[in-house]
Amino acid sequence: MVFETKNKISPNINDYNIDSIRDDFPALSLECNGYPLSFLDSGASAQKPSKVLERMDHAYRNEYANVHRGAYTLSQQATDNYENARKTVADFMNAKSSDEIIFTRNVTSAINLVAHSYGRNFLKAGDEVVISHMEHHANIVPWQLLRDAVGIELKIAPIDDAGNFLLDDFEKILGPKTKLVAITHVSNVLGTIVPIKKIVQLAKTVDAKVLIDGCQGIVHEGVDVQSLDADFYAFTGHKLYGPSGIGVLWGKLDLLNAMPPYEGGGDMIEIVTFEKSTFRDAPARFEAGTPPIIEAVGLAAAIDYITSIGVNNIATHENHMLEYATSCLAEIDGLRIIGNADKKIGIISFELDDIHPHDISTIIDSKGVAVRAGHHCAQPLMERYGVPATTRASFGMYTSEGDIDQLADALKYAKGIFG
Ligand SMILES: *Cc1c(COP(=O)(O)O)cnc(C)c1O
Repeated sequence: MVFETKNKISPNINDYNIDSIRDDFPALSLECNGYPLSFLDSGASAQKPSKVLERMDHAYRNEYANVHRGAYTLSQQATDNYENARKTVADFMNAKSSDEIIFTRNVTSAINLVAHSYGRNFLKAGDEVVISHMEHHANIVPWQLLRDAVGIELKIAPIDDAGNFLLDDFEKILGPKTKLVAITHVSNVLGTIVPIKKIVQLAKTVDAKVLIDGCQGIVHEGVDVQSLDADFYAFTGHKLYGPSGIGVLWGKLDLLNAMPPYEGGGDMIEIVTFEKSTFRDAPARFEAGTPPIIEAVGLAAAIDYITSIGVNNIATHENHMLEYATSCLAEIDGLRIIGNADKKIGIISFELDDIHPHDISTIIDSKGVAVRAGHHCAQPLMERYGVPATTRASFGMYTSEGDIDQLADALKYAKGIFG
């Protein structure tokens, strides 16, 4: 399931020039401990192309003022940039309207927004919220806080040992009490692509709302929110080759406008008196205070860059890298990959003998390889697999076979030290 962005021409995969793409990312020419940097932690945060950095620099130097406030030219320019960025995001997700796009700090704040504003006002004691066993803490803890506040029940949709989402079991969990399903599009630990379209269809049969954590999914698959027909879709800018400090909550407009504000302050109000305030419609209603102005400009530049290369082409490239890496790692004795779902993206979590993941990552860092070690903000998932932590290599649009060869060599070196 890979979506084309509407009205945008996607270049042919044969034009995918990995060398020239790598040249677009300044950080990829860094050296690390005397080796070329092999950056395999894009799942935690992606590097930024020059186009994003230059666009943000230009906006800070030439187009900077606060937005939605001044009538002067510079403020209007900044406001236009900010609102055009919203339009770019809306088009990228195929949203019906830019009004459905709310800029937040990251996906965490987007999910908390829904848990507070929707959860505390539309859900009551005994209602059920369904999440999966492979959620990031950002899609677990807000629902636990909601459980403590209003008494909802949290239900966990299971996965199999390979990391596949179990649709049949999910269906059995659904019932008249299910009011909200909050599931990740793609697992940040296992790489599993979750069948979100089927999940939405099943959730509709019991009239439950659906929130998708699209943090990894939008990067590797894209999304068409109209065709998906969920109620909320959230993602974070820094994993989509954009800046940190900005996230997006997409929601159906009627629903957003029925929800009360989450934070109060400037920009989100119509009229304020000491007795009472009235609130603007979405998106302003949910953007109290000065928003991430330049971050929005950077995110739009990142989306333009991705679109110029083509989400499908990027996905195809990353699939090649996943296959290549899976076969390289399979040659290493004692390496066990955790997460072998039928459909997955370029994320590989693994164990190597009984070497602690922190030791692995420290040793291979000395060879210039950057990977993640730890619980990846998914402790219940670690428990599911009976491990305290894993080492995780995650790929991006710029990952090369050279990066993966360097990883494999460094892992053999680590094995040598402990073996
Ligand atoms: C990274 C990630 C998050 C958290 O993103 P933040 O930018 O820290 O809010 C949530 N869910 C998934 C699936 C992720 O990969």
